[in-house]
Amino acid sequence: MARKEREIPKAKTLSLFDLQRMFPDEQSAIDYLAGILWKNGVVCPYCEGKNVKERKKRKNYHHCNDCNKDFTIRVGTIVNYKENGKDVESVDIVSKDIIIKLDGKQLDIKNDITIDGGGRVTIDAGCTPSNDRVSRVFEIAAGVTAELKGLTITGGKGTELGGGGILNSGTLTIEKCNITQNTANQGGGISNWRGTLTVINSEISNNEAYYGCGIYNGDNTSYGGGSTATIINSKILRNTTASSGGGIYNDTDSSLSIMNGSEISGNKATQHRQV
Ligand SMILES: [Zn+2]
Repeated sequence: MARKEREIPKAKTLSLFDLQRMFPDEQSAIDYLAGILWKNGVVCPYCEGKNVKERKKRKNYHHCNDCNKDFTIRVGTIVNYKENGKDVESVDIVSKDIIIKLDGKQLDIKNDITIDGGGRVTIDAGCTPSNDRVSRVFEIAAGVTAELKGLTITGGKGTELGGGGILNSGTLTIEKCNITQNTANQGGGISNWRGTLTVINSEISNNEAYYGCGIYNGDNTSYGGGSTATIINSKILRNTTASSGGGIYNDTDSSLSIMNGSEISGNKATQHRQV
């Protein structure tokens, strides 16, 4: 008789609780991941070699005969948890805060989705002043409706169109998020580029940019754009620029509403259009 397929929730929201339901134990998560990543056979994540054998005495470990390294399914994926530089065998995702370190690749959101980190998940793009890495944390494509909840978004560096933490060209709601220590030319925290952005109960602090350190809300309709941003009960604090828009830079023809107990303070700009 065929083995019963594991049920994957169809809902668009994937919370930590859904993850736990999908994967009641560590082995079920490893098997699921292996079925996707290694459906055509085990591949070494370091050298992409296929001359690989299972380690008999270390469960879930494989050895690459080409580069002579040991690895598990998690190496090179966002579930490669490490403690003190070593892979850990199991992670209690409910009682532990999780830091997801991106490996130089931004998270591209191309389909409608809700990501709920429950206030315990940090996503770090790993860009610092001392390395030359350039990677955002998230990019939301045009036409996509996305919600990001309960996440700390940090370490991002934006390229063209800006947005160190997030570049949004879709319809994005951010709720209970902390967006901090991201940099870009425009929109250190968020670049809302021809998008619709709602920020609720969140804090955007200590981001850097040339235009709009916290948020850049642009571009103007003469370039075919125009953006809408609504800030509700949120704090935009201590963002710094050498130019315009310490907290928020609102471009011509873009709409900005600041509502309900929002606080915008401690932001520094040397030129006009400081909000
Ligand atoms: Zn290898």
